Amino acid sequence: MKDGNQVAKRRKHAFTPAERYAVMITHGQQCYLCRTPIDMSTFHVDHIIPEHLLDTPDRLTEVLELLGRPSDFNINSFANWLPACGPCNVRKRGLVFEPSGIAQANLQMAASKAVEAEKAATRVVGRQELAKALNTLQRWPKTEPLPDEIEDQLLPLLVDFAQHVSRSGLDAVIRVTPTYSVPLYELLKDDGATAVVRGPFGVGGGPSPERGIAAAMTCGVCGERFFNGTRCVLCGAQDDGD
Ligand SMILES: [Zn+2]
Ligand SMILES: [Zn+2]
Repeated sequence: MKDGNQVAKRRKHAFTPAERYAVMITHGQQCYLCRTPIDMSTFHVDHIIPEHLLDTPDRLTEVLELLGRPSDFNINSFANWLPACGPCNVRKRGLVFEPSGIAQANLQMAASKAVEAEKAATRVVGRQELAKALNTLQRWPKTEPLPDEIEDQLLPLLVDFAQHVSRSGLDAVIRVTPTYSVPLYELLKDDGATAVVRGPFGVGGGPSPERGIAAAMTCGVCGERFFNGTRCVLCGAQDDGD
């Protein structure tokens, strides 16, 4: 790898659909720089420490040192990737990178979830229906409406997303393309105190989304609040009382 850093004409990392999906699922559906909502098919994966520094190994060594990263830190790994919107990603690419406290905080955020992201990528590669759905999505023209048979192919992916997405920045929809979103749950009734919703795992009830709730009342897996008997209707986890 060290030798690769010396090559003048470096090739940019081509993200696999599984890598992209893993970045979004672990960090939520929003740009880490401006908090704008992003969708699964058009979001960008941003390198916190810019990839172009691979062209200037001395500068890279200096930056890694300033940011307290090991000298063998991998620029192309989940420890350096976060989801961004197109405008932020393009703007950041054009800037001279200055190592800062903000960069350090973002690196810590990526590092804290790198193992989880790695697991998500492995899960996708190991499950044919997920890999197939992501490939279908990648090939589909971003702004064209999805026909029913494509939606059917995406279903396993949407269920996986509902089960595993980070709750940060989640607003009860799965944004698939710029023109196609799927409700994570459908609100059937809400009287301000109690709500009834339909999720991927059936119909269930819980405190109204208008109200703040104690962590003890939320699902231990996905953090949401709607149960059908003992099962979370969003992610299907059994509520075993802890
Ligand atoms: Zn942004
Ligand atoms: Zn849940």
